[in-house]
Amino acid sequence: MRLVAYEHDGGRRIGVRDGDSVRPLQAPDLPSLLEVGIDHVSVGPAIALAHLRLLPPVWNPPKVVCVGINYADHAAETGRQRPDYPVLFPRWPTSFVAHGDPLVVPHASAQLDYEGELVAVIGTPGRHITRDRALDHVAGYSIFNDGSVRDFQRRTPQFTPGKNFDGTGGFGPELVTADELPPGAAGLRITTTVDGEVLQDASTSDLLFDVAELISVISGFMTLERGDCIVTGTPGGVGMARTPQRWLRPGESCEVTIEGIGTLRNPVVAESR
Ligand code: MG
Repeated sequence: MRLVAYEHDGGRRIGVRDGDSVRPLQAPDLPSLLEVGIDHVSVGPAIALAHLRLLPPVWNPPKVVCVGINYADHAAETGRQRPDYPVLFPRWPTSFVAHGDPLVVPHASAQLDYEGELVAVIGTPGRHITRDRALDHVAGYSIFNDGSVRDFQRRTPQFTPGKNFDGTGGFGPELVTADELPPGAAGLRITTTVDGEVLQDASTSDLLFDVAELISVISGFMTLERGDCIVTGTPGGVGMARTPQRWLRPGESCEVTIEGIGTLRNPVVAESR
């Protein structure tokens, strides 16, 4: 099942996408839908996808936990050792951008970088989740562009400011339920392009800490809640590590594609004055 969030008649809605149409679900948001169960809510008449403005599939996650340095080639290109414990940092939804909406190069920096990533969304809450049960807690998967303002990211050992500028976190276009994908969404090709040029090309099987391991580690220190998003990290090929460095520029279009999930597309704009 492919779940979309969208604006319609001035409200925020959740629906099931089937081809070019969406059937509205009677739920206020994705965490609520996951609590009730997708099979237990009423479904409205289909409306054309083209008439809807998409939102991030989870616009109000209780938590967003991002993972740094989670592919060996990305660790190498940033001069980091493979970590023994995952590098975790938070993002907040004020940084989110829906599929089709622009990523924003802020006034404060010219160093906006792309990071194509797999997102796992929690459907069943838990604490101290064992690795062998971890994937039972995943509702589905989506795509993230963990847009990073590199000079701010590198000002201190903490990544927080550089990962939280408004309008830098592409998320979507939809949530694909876990039953439609391989366990842990492993073995899927992930690519990032800018204006058609392939800049990242890897497999989700290359994750150093896979989805099950991340859920086990994170739930070891805090409760994972319905709708929590785990943004699993980016492969090698980021703009910061290129020679010359390659920053996103207004007028460009950035796409992240994950096999079996879809393509997240965002134009790039300058922050408005
Ligand atoms: Mg990242």
